[in-house]
Amino acid sequence: MQTSDSDTKQEGKLIIFSAPSGSGKSTIVQALLKKGFNLEFSISATSRAPRGEEKNGVEYYFLSPDEFRDKIAKGDFLEWEEVYENNYYGTLKSEVNRICSVGNNIVFDVDVVGGVNIKKMYGDKALSIFVQPPSIEELRKRLVNRGTDSAEKIEMRIAKAEEELAYAAEFDKVIVNDNLEQALESTEKALLNFLGK
Ligand code: ADP
Ligand code: 5GP
Repeated sequence: MQTSDSDTKQEGKLIIFSAPSGSGKSTIVQALLKKGFNLEFSISATSRAPRGEEKNGVEYYFLSPDEFRDKIAKGDFLEWEEVYENNYYGTLKSEVNRICSVGNNIVFDVDVVGGVNIKKMYGDKALSIFVQPPSIEELRKRLVNRGTDSAEKIEMRIAKAEEELAYAAEFDKVIVNDNLEQALESTEKALLNFLGK
Protein backbone atom coordinates (compact mmCIF):
# COMPACT_ATOMS: atom_id res chain seq x y z
CA MET A 1 0.00 0.00 0.00
CA GLN A 2 1.58 3.23 -1.13
CA THR A 3 0.92 6.20 1.13
CA SER A 4 2.03 9.83 1.02
CA ASP A 5 5.69 10.87 1.23
CA SER A 6 4.82 14.55 1.72
CA ASP A 7 6.10 14.58 5.29
CA THR A 8 9.40 12.81 4.74
CA LYS A 9 12.59 14.84 4.21
CA GLN A 10 14.83 13.58 1.42
CA GLU A 11 18.49 14.41 0.98
CA GLY A 12 20.51 11.21 0.71
CA LYS A 13 19.92 8.60 -2.01
CA LEU A 14 17.84 5.46 -1.71
CA ILE A 15 18.88 1.91 -2.51
CA ILE A 16 16.04 -0.57 -2.58
CA PHE A 17 16.54 -4.33 -2.36
CA SER A 18 13.71 -6.74 -3.09
CA ALA A 19 13.72 -10.49 -3.68
CA PRO A 20 11.85 -13.67 -2.95
CA SER A 21 12.58 -14.79 0.61
CA GLY A 22 15.73 -16.94 0.72
CA SER A 23 17.41 -15.37 -2.34
CA GLY A 24 20.22 -13.98 -0.20
CA LYS A 25 19.07 -10.37 -0.05
CA SER A 26 19.85 -9.91 3.68
CA THR A 27 23.26 -11.53 3.20
CA ILE A 28 24.07 -9.06 0.39
CA VAL A 29 22.65 -6.05 2.26
CA GLN A 30 24.59 -6.86 5.46
CA ALA A 31 27.86 -7.23 3.50
CA LEU A 32 27.29 -3.86 1.77
CA LEU A 33 26.48 -2.06 5.02
CA LYS A 34 29.91 -3.06 6.34
CA LYS A 35 31.62 -1.40 3.37
CA GLY A 36 30.77 2.19 4.21
CA PHE A 37 29.28 4.25 1.34
CA ASN A 38 27.35 6.19 4.06
CA LEU A 39 24.68 3.52 3.96
CA GLU A 40 22.18 3.05 6.73
CA PHE A 41 19.55 0.32 6.92
CA SER A 42 15.91 1.36 7.11
CA ILE A 43 14.49 -0.72 9.97
CA SER A 44 10.96 -1.70 8.98
CA ALA A 45 8.07 -2.39 11.30
CA THR A 46 6.45 -5.83 11.20
CA SER A 47 3.66 -7.68 12.96
CA ARG A 48 5.42 -11.04 12.57
CA ALA A 49 7.19 -12.58 15.57
CA PRO A 50 11.00 -12.29 15.92
CA ARG A 51 12.87 -15.16 14.24
CA GLY A 52 16.03 -16.75 15.68
CA GLU A 53 18.21 -14.09 17.31
CA GLU A 54 16.29 -11.11 15.93
CA LYS A 55 15.96 -8.13 18.30
CA ASN A 56 13.48 -5.28 18.42
CA GLY A 57 14.99 -2.13 16.88
CA VAL A 58 17.77 -4.06 15.10
CA GLU A 59 16.27 -6.18 12.29
CA TYR A 60 12.73 -4.81 12.74
CA TYR A 61 10.49 -2.86 15.05
CA PHE A 62 8.25 -5.70 16.20
CA LEU A 63 4.65 -4.58 16.71
CA SER A 64 1.43 -6.41 17.55
CA PRO A 65 -1.13 -6.51 14.70
CA ASP A 66 -3.18 -3.89 16.63
CA GLU A 67 -0.20 -1.57 17.08
CA PHE A 68 0.58 -1.96 13.38
CA ARG A 69 -3.00 -1.13 12.32
CA ASP A 70 -3.00 1.87 14.65
CA LYS A 71 0.09 3.24 12.89
CA ILE A 72 -1.54 2.67 9.49
CA ALA A 73 -4.56 4.68 10.67
CA LYS A 74 -2.31 7.51 11.91
CA GLY A 75 -0.53 7.71 8.54
CA ASP A 76 2.84 6.80 10.06
CA PHE A 77 3.93 4.62 7.10
CA LEU A 78 5.58 5.65 3.84
CA GLU A 79 4.36 2.29 2.52
CA TRP A 80 3.15 -0.96 4.02
CA GLU A 81 2.06 -4.40 2.76
CA GLU A 82 0.45 -7.52 4.13
CA VAL A 83 3.29 -9.56 2.62
CA TYR A 84 2.05 -12.88 4.05
CA GLU A 85 -1.41 -13.52 5.47
CA ASN A 86 -1.76 -11.60 8.77
CA ASN A 87 1.90 -10.52 8.61
CA TYR A 88 2.20 -6.81 7.99
CA TYR A 89 5.44 -5.05 7.05
CA GLY A 90 5.98 -1.33 6.54
CA THR A 91 8.45 1.52 6.24
CA LEU A 92 7.95 4.18 8.90
CA LYS A 93 8.25 7.81 7.78
CA SER A 94 10.05 8.48 11.07
CA GLU A 95 12.75 5.96 10.08
CA VAL A 96 13.37 7.62 6.71
CA ASN A 97 13.54 11.04 8.39
CA ARG A 98 15.92 9.74 11.07
CA ILE A 99 18.39 8.46 8.45
CA CYS A 100 18.08 11.57 6.27
CA SER A 101 18.66 13.87 9.20
CA VAL A 102 22.18 12.47 9.61
CA GLY A 103 22.82 12.74 5.84
CA ASN A 104 23.09 9.03 5.10
CA ASN A 105 21.95 7.03 2.07
CA ILE A 106 19.08 4.69 2.93
CA VAL A 107 19.03 0.96 2.24
CA PHE A 108 15.59 -0.65 2.08
CA ASP A 109 14.87 -4.37 2.31
CA VAL A 110 11.25 -4.57 1.21
CA ASP A 111 8.97 -6.93 -0.69
CA VAL A 112 8.64 -6.56 -4.48
CA VAL A 113 5.48 -4.43 -4.32
CA GLY A 114 7.01 -2.10 -1.70
CA GLY A 115 10.18 -1.90 -3.83
CA VAL A 116 8.28 -0.88 -6.96
CA ASN A 117 6.26 1.68 -4.95
CA ILE A 118 9.28 3.35 -3.31
CA LYS A 119 11.03 3.54 -6.69
CA LYS A 120 7.93 5.26 -8.16
CA MET A 121 7.90 7.79 -5.29
CA TYR A 122 11.58 8.76 -5.62
CA GLY A 123 12.47 8.17 -9.30
CA ASP A 124 16.12 8.94 -10.07
CA LYS A 125 16.98 9.42 -6.38
CA ALA A 126 16.43 5.68 -5.94
CA LEU A 127 18.19 2.59 -7.30
CA SER A 128 16.01 -0.52 -7.19
CA ILE A 129 17.76 -3.90 -7.14
CA PHE A 130 16.08 -7.28 -7.54
CA VAL A 131 18.05 -10.19 -6.08
CA GLN A 132 17.17 -13.29 -8.07
CA PRO A 133 17.81 -16.87 -6.90
CA PRO A 134 19.32 -19.27 -9.48
CA SER A 135 16.18 -21.49 -9.24
CA ILE A 136 13.18 -22.26 -7.04
CA GLU A 137 14.83 -25.53 -5.97
CA GLU A 138 17.93 -23.64 -4.79
CA LEU A 139 15.65 -21.19 -2.97
CA ARG A 140 13.99 -24.06 -1.10
CA LYS A 141 17.42 -25.49 -0.18
CA ARG A 142 18.57 -22.11 1.17
CA LEU A 143 15.44 -21.65 3.27
CA VAL A 144 15.80 -25.18 4.69
CA ASN A 145 19.52 -24.65 5.41
CA ARG A 146 18.85 -21.26 7.02
CA GLY A 147 16.84 -23.22 9.59
CA THR A 148 14.69 -20.30 10.75
CA ASP A 149 11.28 -21.24 9.32
CA SER A 150 8.95 -24.20 9.79
CA ALA A 151 8.31 -26.51 6.77
CA GLU A 152 4.89 -24.89 6.42
CA LYS A 153 6.33 -21.35 6.39
CA ILE A 154 8.96 -22.42 3.86
CA GLU A 155 6.26 -23.70 1.48
CA MET A 156 4.32 -20.44 1.92
CA ARG A 157 7.44 -18.47 0.99
CA ILE A 158 8.16 -20.73 -2.02
CA ALA A 159 4.59 -20.39 -3.30
CA LYS A 160 4.90 -16.61 -3.10
CA ALA A 161 8.33 -16.65 -4.78
CA GLU A 162 6.82 -17.77 -8.09
CA GLU A 163 4.71 -14.56 -8.19
CA GLU A 164 7.56 -12.36 -6.97
CA LEU A 165 9.94 -13.48 -9.74
CA ALA A 166 7.58 -11.90 -12.28
CA TYR A 167 8.44 -8.45 -10.85
CA ALA A 168 12.16 -8.60 -11.76
CA ALA A 169 11.67 -6.59 -14.97
CA GLU A 170 10.29 -3.62 -12.99
CA PHE A 171 13.60 -3.08 -11.18
CA ASP A 172 16.58 -0.98 -12.32
CA LYS A 173 18.98 -3.88 -11.86
CA VAL A 174 18.66 -7.66 -11.50
CA ILE A 175 21.45 -9.43 -9.58
CA VAL A 176 21.43 -13.23 -9.87
CA ASN A 177 22.74 -14.58 -6.57
CA ASP A 178 24.26 -17.89 -7.63
CA ASN A 179 27.86 -17.34 -6.58
CA LEU A 180 27.72 -15.00 -3.58
CA GLU A 181 31.08 -13.33 -4.23
CA GLN A 182 30.14 -12.48 -7.81
CA ALA A 183 26.73 -11.23 -6.73
CA LEU A 184 28.37 -8.96 -4.15
CA GLU A 185 30.82 -7.63 -6.71
CA SER A 186 28.04 -6.80 -9.21
CA THR A 187 25.96 -5.13 -6.51
CA GLU A 188 28.88 -3.02 -5.33
CA LYS A 189 29.59 -1.94 -8.92
CA ALA A 190 25.96 -0.91 -9.47
CA LEU A 191 25.98 0.99 -6.18
CA LEU A 192 29.21 2.87 -6.93
CA ASN A 193 27.89 3.81 -10.35
CA PHE A 194 24.62 5.10 -8.84
CA LEU A 195 26.18 6.99 -5.93
CA GLY A 196 28.77 8.55 -8.23
CA LYS A 197 26.09 10.16 -10.44
P1 ADP B 1 16.77 -13.37 2.20
O1 ADP B 1 17.18 -12.18 3.00
O2 ADP B 1 16.66 -13.06 0.75
O3 ADP B 1 15.53 -14.04 2.74
P2 ADP B 1 19.18 -14.66 3.29
O4 ADP B 1 20.21 -13.60 3.08
O5 ADP B 1 18.67 -14.90 4.67
O6 ADP B 1 17.93 -14.46 2.29
O7 ADP B 1 19.77 -16.01 2.68
C1 ADP B 1 19.07 -17.24 2.78
C2 ADP B 1 20.09 -18.35 3.12
O8 ADP B 1 20.89 -18.59 1.95
C3 ADP B 1 21.05 -17.98 4.24
O9 ADP B 1 21.27 -19.12 5.03
C4 ADP B 1 22.32 -17.54 3.49
O10 ADP B 1 23.48 -17.78 4.26
C5 ADP B 1 22.29 -18.42 2.25
N1 ADP B 1 22.90 -17.83 1.04
C6 ADP B 1 22.93 -16.53 0.65
N2 ADP B 1 23.55 -16.39 -0.54
C7 ADP B 1 23.93 -17.63 -0.93
C8 ADP B 1 24.61 -18.14 -2.09
N3 ADP B 1 25.02 -17.36 -3.09
N4 ADP B 1 24.81 -19.47 -2.14
C9 ADP B 1 24.38 -20.30 -1.14
N5 ADP B 1 23.73 -19.89 -0.02
C10 ADP B 1 23.50 -18.56 0.08
P1 5GP C 1 11.01 -11.62 6.46
O1 5GP C 1 9.81 -12.14 7.22
O2 5GP C 1 11.72 -12.73 5.71
O3 5GP C 1 11.94 -10.79 7.31
O4 5GP C 1 10.47 -10.62 5.34
C1 5GP C 1 9.45 -11.02 4.49
C2 5GP C 1 9.32 -10.04 3.37
O5 5GP C 1 8.87 -8.76 3.85
C3 5GP C 1 10.64 -9.76 2.62
O6 5GP C 1 10.35 -9.77 1.23
C4 5GP C 1 11.01 -8.38 3.08
O7 5GP C 1 11.78 -7.69 2.13
C5 5GP C 1 9.62 -7.75 3.23
N1 5GP C 1 9.63 -6.51 4.01
C6 5GP C 1 10.39 -6.23 5.09
N2 5GP C 1 10.16 -4.98 5.50
C7 5GP C 1 9.26 -4.43 4.64
C8 5GP C 1 8.65 -3.13 4.53
O8 5GP C 1 8.90 -2.20 5.28
N3 5GP C 1 7.77 -2.95 3.51
C9 5GP C 1 7.46 -3.93 2.63
N4 5GP C 1 6.61 -3.65 1.66
N5 5GP C 1 8.02 -5.17 2.71
C10 5GP C 1 8.91 -5.41 3.70
